[in-house]
Amino acid sequence: MTQANQVPVLICGGGPVGLALAIELGFRGVECLLVEQGDGTVSVPKMSQLSTRTMEFRRRWGIAAEAKKAGWPKEHPADFIYVTSMIGYELFRQKFAPYAKQGDVGYTPEGPRQCPQIFFDPILFRRAASLPSVTLRHLTRLESFEEDVNGVYAHLISLETGRTERIRADYLIGCDGFDGHVRKALKVEYEGSGILSYSVSIFFRSKSLGTLHDKGWGRFYRLVDASGHWSDLIAIDGHELWRLTCFHVDPESDIGSLNVEALLIRAAGATFPYEVLSILPWKRRELVATSYGRGRVFIAGDAAHQMSPTGGLGMNTGIGDVVDIGWKLAAMLQGWGGPHLLESYEIERKPIAFSSVSVSSETYVHETSLPADPAIAENSSEGERARRQFPEALRGRRGEGKERLHEGVKLGYSYDQSPIIWPDESETQAPTDGNGILSCRSGSRAPHAWLGENISTLDLFGHGFVLLRFDRRSIDASTIVAAAAARRVPLKIVDIDNRDVAALYERKLVLVRPDGHVAWRADTCPDDALALIDRVRGAGSP
Ligand SMILES: Cc1cc2nc3c(=O)[nH]c(=O)nc-3n(C[C@H](O)[C@H](O)[C@H](O)COP(=O)(O)OP(=O)(O)OC[C@H]3O[C@@H](n4cnc5c(N)ncnc54)[C@H](O)[C@@H]3O)c2cc1C
Repeated sequence: MTQANQVPVLICGGGPVGLALAIELGFRGVECLLVEQGDGTVSVPKMSQLSTRTMEFRRRWGIAAEAKKAGWPKEHPADFIYVTSMIGYELFRQKFAPYAKQGDVGYTPEGPRQCPQIFFDPILFRRAASLPSVTLRHLTRLESFEEDVNGVYAHLISLETGRTERIRADYLIGCDGFDGHVRKALKVEYEGSGILSYSVSIFFRSKSLGTLHDKGWGRFYRLVDASGHWSDLIAIDGHELWRLTCFHVDPESDIGSLNVEALLIRAAGATFPYEVLSILPWKRRELVATSYGRGRVFIAGDAAHQMSPTGGLGMNTGIGDVVDIGWKLAAMLQGWGGPHLLESYEIERKPIAFSSVSVSSETYVHETSLPADPAIAENSSEGERARRQFPEALRGRRGEGKERLHEGVKLGYSYDQSPIIWPDESETQAPTDGNGILSCRSGSRAPHAWLGENISTLDLFGHGFVLLRFDRRSIDASTIVAAAAARRVPLKIVDIDNRDVAALYERKLVLVRPDGHVAWRADTCPDDALALIDRVRGAGSP
């Protein structure tokens, strides 16, 4: 910290979202203090799937390779397999090639990865701890805070020693999860359907479960019996760690009375040796905070939104939040952010939360409302009929092209309605690829293209603004450079002489923000370059 009891950014909560914010700030040289009431032990692998966008951020932070090594063995198929039980009938298989055999998908340098939270959080922690401007403190709780025009005054308590202290911060970000203190202190409510169902996740170790059956390795075994789709068994490390998530648990029953053995036998179809590592009862919620904060205090991650994990969007949406607010906090602290910059955080991120929440609930309803057939697991002609009909029933419910739609939600979102984006005047229709993944319109993620061996356009972004110029001979961008310099906005010009990339980006000049989203694009410099720079730094008229 710069001075005793003073820090530019205080982060409350050291879950994946708080740690990602610490990295994002540390990556920009911004001093921050993260306080986490726990001791850093992650005992439940809640999140398992890192989205393409999260993997792209990890590439930027220099930890993509670690995630690839830490999660799923690259030779294992990553199929989703519908079974009556592990030793029972296979009903349907959605194939996903092993990572080792997945080719270049074209739209990203980093595809999605299985890297459960028990592996993911420690990687984030180590990266955050390696950054000189980041201080991480476990067993420290934020008790309360107050705010005035000069700063936020936070009261912390050490859960080890009981020592209390008062810290002054320029900004406080609550990454303190569902029902966190920061949101409550701001008197912000949640809106949405609330609780969708009560679930329980049983995390266990069993070397023999992987070879008990004839289905081979898959990431998800979706368990469908006479009662319908009742549970998912997830292979965590492709070796010996598993998580069984049961969907509909009686909210009144206490966890001690849960018959874990009966559930595991029902899933496997037979007895097998296992060791239970943890049991997590949890509520599947559909909620978004009515406000993401104001002034000097904001919230991010599960503190701001909760959704059903179906679709793997919860944490990934939170990581997107902190990448958005991270560069804006840096801009304010470095003196080039305008008065409306932080207001744009909620404007940009809240619609993304709504769409993530709604896709997640829709997927949950589709997955769990398959019509139950009492004969499905029977060794009989009725059973054969039920199993023959299953794939059709499943396709009918899920619809085609869902994966592509999900990838669009995770990657193809746009901030085109943001007040700090200069809209594309010429183009108001939907992007041509249908889900925004390849769009280069203002507000979109600047798309990936290879520039050389393992060098992506995405590798150009991350620090200041980048002005891509696709025609260095005829375009003089000095007015934009001068405007940025006048406002102390970090900006560099990158000239690209590559026809394919130029065609993808569609304009001769494309201004990309530090988070990798397109802020403006055109074929010529604007008449008023200062107005452009003021708008993208949040100093335009509101
Ligand atoms: C079964 C399951 C499966 C899931 N699968 C996926 C998936 O595949 N993909 C995905 O993207 N998401 C998934 N999720 C959701 C994901 O786990 C959450 O979105 C994610 O953990 C939220 O991270 P967070 O950092 O915002 O909050 P949390 O993980 O809740 O962390 C908040 C932290 O703040 C700390 N804290 C709280 N109050 C204070 C205080 N006053 N002072 C100090 N510290 C405090 C807490 O101790 C905690 O460590 C899943 C969730 C579940 C339950």
